[in-house]
Amino acid sequence: MSGSKGLRNAAQGFATRAIHHGYDAGSAHGAVTPPIYMTSTYGFDSAEQGGALFRGEGEGYIYGRTRNPTTDLLEARIASLEEGEAGVAFTSGMAAISATLMTLMSAGDELLLDKTIYGNTYAFCMKGLTRFGVAVRFVDLTDPQALRDAISERSRVLLFETPANPNLRVIDIRAITQVAREAGIISIVDNTFCSPALQRPLQLGADIVVHSATKFLSGHGDVLAGLMVGRKEHADLVRGQGLRFLNGGVISPLVAHLVMRGIKTLDLRMERHSSSGLALARMLEEHAAVDAVHYPGLPSFPQHDVAKSQMSAFGGLISVELKGGYAAGMRFMNALQLATRAVSLGDAETLVQHPASMTHAVYPAEERAKHGISDGLIRISVGLETYDDIAHDVEQALAAAANG
Ligand code: PLP
Repeated sequence: MSGSKGLRNAAQGFATRAIHHGYDAGSAHGAVTPPIYMTSTYGFDSAEQGGALFRGEGEGYIYGRTRNPTTDLLEARIASLEEGEAGVAFTSGMAAISATLMTLMSAGDELLLDKTIYGNTYAFCMKGLTRFGVAVRFVDLTDPQALRDAISERSRVLLFETPANPNLRVIDIRAITQVAREAGIISIVDNTFCSPALQRPLQLGADIVVHSATKFLSGHGDVLAGLMVGRKEHADLVRGQGLRFLNGGVISPLVAHLVMRGIKTLDLRMERHSSSGLALARMLEEHAAVDAVHYPGLPSFPQHDVAKSQMSAFGGLISVELKGGYAAGMRFMNALQLATRAVSLGDAETLVQHPASMTHAVYPAEERAKHGISDGLIRISVGLETYDDIAHDVEQALAAAANG
């Protein structure tokens, strides 16, 4: 069987590893697609062997909350693609983020967060972690000096998204993680918007990457899933505590399979999301009904140079502010015919949502304003439909918005 060609070969290209990494078909009757091990528990050869496994002696599976062979393969694949040592899979992005933070932080520690962050990550930190004695401090991470000034004795972990949800702010991963490293702070990057096809934060100095694999990684809007990747010491801790008993957010083996199926075409899909995203952002920027376009691939984007230095392409997310603010935004959304009015992102379908009333409604209004999430902001996740059809739909909806 030719399967061993796919085992841990870092010299292979990204798309090859996305399809083959870690799987030996010879171990599974030659099945080209890896089997899905739908089992919650595993038999021991003997009572003594079971006891030994519980003591951490020897190799073997015990129970599905900590490991499963299908999930192992997904974890090995994402670790290869992110160029990290090890990965852990979860039932959702929020499970990955919460398990990682709960594992690495204790009462008395301080978490540093960028000013703009996904609404439920914000809620987990502000309404969750703070109840358990963890302090949360927001910092404008577009400025490394602001991070230096914010660091205190208690600062233990730093978390940010780049580009950030929903306004696409870009953080300089090299500069910010260097400041964190010098201060002994663990840095975590949420790489959901890029996926490793466009950006690999571990190579730029981050300690840990987290993902909502619900989005581009699975890519088809049919599952929820989450991942964390980093050094083995961190992954082992997060599996042994965060996954095992702090939140228990275990991915289903069937979902792990579906995420791997999505990852097989990740490279191709990200190319199309990015080319259509750039074309649509350019069109929007020129349009008379538009006030501002936030897209890292536009030369007018404030952190365009940073984006170019760490992203290989600029992805499928665009935020746009229309002339006429909130009311025009609502008219625009309601006029869409091809694009779907829906939260989430990274699907084959173009999805359009209004962060202030939807994904980021959990922020108090004054906090949203401070975090740069205006009431008129519309977020577009550019899908994989024929570009001209997407552009035509957006153009006719802009016309409807302007005629309100
Ligand atoms: N991180 C980012 C950047 C997100 O956009 C989301 C969800 O939208 C999450 C994390 C949470 O992921 P999930 O919905 O899979 O729990």
